[in-house]
Order: sequence, then structure tokens, then C-alpha cells
Amino acid sequence: MPSLLDDAARRAAAYLSGLDDRPVSPPPEALAALSRFDEPLPAEPTDPAESLHLLDEVGSPATVTSAGGRYFGFVVGGALPATVAASWLAGAWDQNAGARSLAPSAAKIEEVATGWLLDVLGLPAESGIGFVTGATAANFSALAAARHALLRSVGWDVETQGLFGAPPITVLTGDEVHVSLLKGLSLLGLGRERIVRIPVDDQGRMRADALPPIDGPTLLCLQAGNVDTGAFDPAAEIIPAAREAGVGWIHVDGAFGLWAAAAPNRKHLMAGYAEADSWATDAHKWLNVPYDSGLVICRDPLPLRAAMSVSASYLILSELREPYAHTPEMSRRARGVEVWAGLRSLGRSGLADLIERCCRHATRFAEGLEAAGYTVLNDVVLNQVLVSFGDAETTERVIAGIQEDGPCWCGGTVWQGHTAMRISVSSWATTEDDVEQSLDTMLRIADRVRSAAVPG
Ligand SMILES: *Cc1c(COP(=O)(O)O)cnc(C)c1O
Repeated sequence: MPSLLDDAARRAAAYLSGLDDRPVSPPPEALAALSRFDEPLPAEPTDPAESLHLLDEVGSPATVTSAGGRYFGFVVGGALPATVAASWLAGAWDQNAGARSLAPSAAKIEEVATGWLLDVLGLPAESGIGFVTGATAANFSALAAARHALLRSVGWDVETQGLFGAPPITVLTGDEVHVSLLKGLSLLGLGRERIVRIPVDDQGRMRADALPPIDGPTLLCLQAGNVDTGAFDPAAEIIPAAREAGVGWIHVDGAFGLWAAAAPNRKHLMAGYAEADSWATDAHKWLNVPYDSGLVICRDPLPLRAAMSVSASYLILSELREPYAHTPEMSRRARGVEVWAGLRSLGRSGLADLIERCCRHATRFAEGLEAAGYTVLNDVVLNQVLVSFGDAETTERVIAGIQEDGPCWCGGTVWQGHTAMRISVSSWATTEDDVEQSLDTMLRIADRVRSAAVPG
């Protein structure tokens, strides 16, 4: 075992130190070589060292180097060194972190991390947190808590009775709702298409003046950080109005936006959000811990425990927090260890600096692209930039060119009818140099595509 782990550590360190010299997308040869994994299941045991060798030789070159500083696709964080190391040790522990009795240190560390998270995110100290796989699972879990509370308020026990014959719940979302929230609604029997979509403005923010009249059990879902523009719904206006109108539960999808609360210069974006009932966020995005890691946060932990409980006896749980009572899973890995390690290694100032730095890099991208004559489609308030290089076809060609070229990676989107390239700066590993080099690449490719398009 020790020499195998030494070998793994040596290979991992070599992989990470080589990131800068590799294209962000794996080259075609590396993808073709993946066929070397096509082998029959060995009839007899094989040498683990030899499997590790194969994994590194064939698997490593066919990775997307999102752990490096020049991956700007989707919203993807790199893992902080402290979190990778903590993850390895916790992996060796092989704890089942679902139950306190099975994993006392993991349960303790989650409790400490819970307090720290609520502090840095500016959320109510009495809230409960479940350590789930990502914001999709976090949205799902929070919506399950909402479903419990809303139906309980009209005398219906959804966990035991199910939804058939239950009083209907009205679900309100912004028109730019993230697909993962819709998935959560569909898994919970609340339906993707029976939601009421509230109109949004040109940044994707829910319009505070467009809240419909409220009648019966109602769930309102806000968004802190639109996946394209980074924009925040105006929670400070909407939440008090929604409460006044009788909305019974307010949920926030803040997969990356919630972290704005940790940075003094971005905190204003989170104004009013602490008044919601539940929040979903990712740790694998902006806290930069390894995949997979998300957080479901409920102001009142009881509805979450009721929804996640394996029996109706949740109210007589011991004084001590049971991890499995807060998540859809029972058995799971000790992902709270990485959250703890990330927060502890950064400290309050390091976290603020990480968030702020990513936002500054995004602003620099926007300025550089605009200075070259391209159109930035969003107000760059956070870490997201949407840029158009001309018509849809030109923009698509530039995106494809950048992806093929190699030094950096960006994806595309259609924002309110306009084809755009998305730049998301979400990694601790991105330096000013990375930004300048990537900007040069973008401008060089855009130039090439546009001059190729000129007739003659
Ligand atoms: C990324 C994202 C999600 C989904 O998160 P996963 O970690 O992929 O499950 C949900 N909502 C928003 C706004 C996101 O950006």
C-alpha cells in the first residue's frame, strides 16, 4: 500500500505541474488512445501498480485541464492544493460519512464547516447544512424541504401520503431559471412546466414589479448568479413583497453567486438574500474543492430533516446532528473534509481575495474584448462575461477556433436570442498572465475568423 500511494502521489504531482504546458482540451491522439481501456475484465487479479500506470499513461492525457488556470467553460473551479491533499487523506480513511457513529471525525468537521460557511456566506447561524454532490442535488433537497413545509402548513404530510390528492403548490421562478432547478421540481412531482415564470430584465434578473397575485401554498425560487450573466435577482425588493403577498417558502439557487457574500466589494449583490428560507450552492465551483461537492442550506433545519428522514421519527433525533438526516444519500463520502480544508487554508481574507480576483479577471477580459471592438452583452458584475464577435456564425466559429487552438477554453450560449461566448473565471489557479495569454488567443482567433470571412 505505501509504495502504491507514493506512486499515485508522484504521478498526481507530475500531472498538476505539467498543466501549464498542455492544451486545455485533450488532443485527438489522446482521445483515440482511450481505446486501450477496451479490454476484457481480467480473469485473474492484476497488479494495482500496473493499473495505476495505465490510468496515468492513457487517462491523464485525455483529461480536460480544468484544474489549470485557463479553463473558462461552464462554471468550473480548480481544486485548491489543501483540498486535494485533504481529499486524499479522507479517501484513505474510507469513512461512511452518512452516520456520526461510522465517522466521528467527518461528522465533527462538517459541523465546524457548517458554522464557518454560514458565517462567510452571511446566512442565519441557526441554519442546517447538508453536504451533497452539487447544486443540482442541493436544489432538489431544498425543494423537498419546501414541499414538506408548504404541504404541512395545509395539513398534508407529503412524506407519508405522497402527492396524489395533495393540495397543489404554486411554483414561481424567474424566466431565466437554471435547468437544475427544473430537474429538482420534476423529481419531486412538482413538474417542470406547471411553474409560473416571472419576466426578467436584459440581465436575466426577475422583475420585482412582476410578482403575480399569490393564492394557496406557494414556493418562490430566486437566483443569485445567473449562469450566463452572473446577475442577481433583486432579493431585497422581492423577498419582503413576496412574504407580504403570502409566499410560504423562498428558495435561492446560488450555485456560485452565493459566494459573492464572502467578498467585501461584491457583498452588495447578496443584499436581502439572507431573508430566504433555503439556499443551494456549490463548493466545487467557487470554493474550489474537488468534485463533487454541493451544499443545501435551510434556515429551519426541521423541514429538511423531515424531507430527508428515513422514518417519521425525525423529531426525536438525538441532540447531535446526524449527517444522513440532511441529505438524500445515506452512505456517502466525507466531502465536508475538503470544504473544511478549503476554508481553513484560505481563511476569511483568502476567500475574499479568491472571489474578488476572479471578478477582476472577468472585468479585464471584458475590457480587453471591448477595446478590440467586440460587444460584451452583460454587465460584468461578477465572474461571468458574455461576448459577441459579430453575427451568430462568426461567434460560433471563434468559439470553435479557440477550443481547437488549445491555450484556453470557452463555451458558447444563446443569451436572450444572441449567440455569445461565455467566459467564467472561477479558479484560484487563474493568474493575470493566464488572462493576458487567453485574451491574446481570443483576439488572434477572432481576427483570423473575421478576415477569413471578408470576401476576396
Ligand atoms: C452550476 C449550476 C447549477 C448546477 O450545479 P451542479 O454543481 O452542476 O449540480 C445550478 N444552478 C446554477 C445557477 C449553476 O450555475
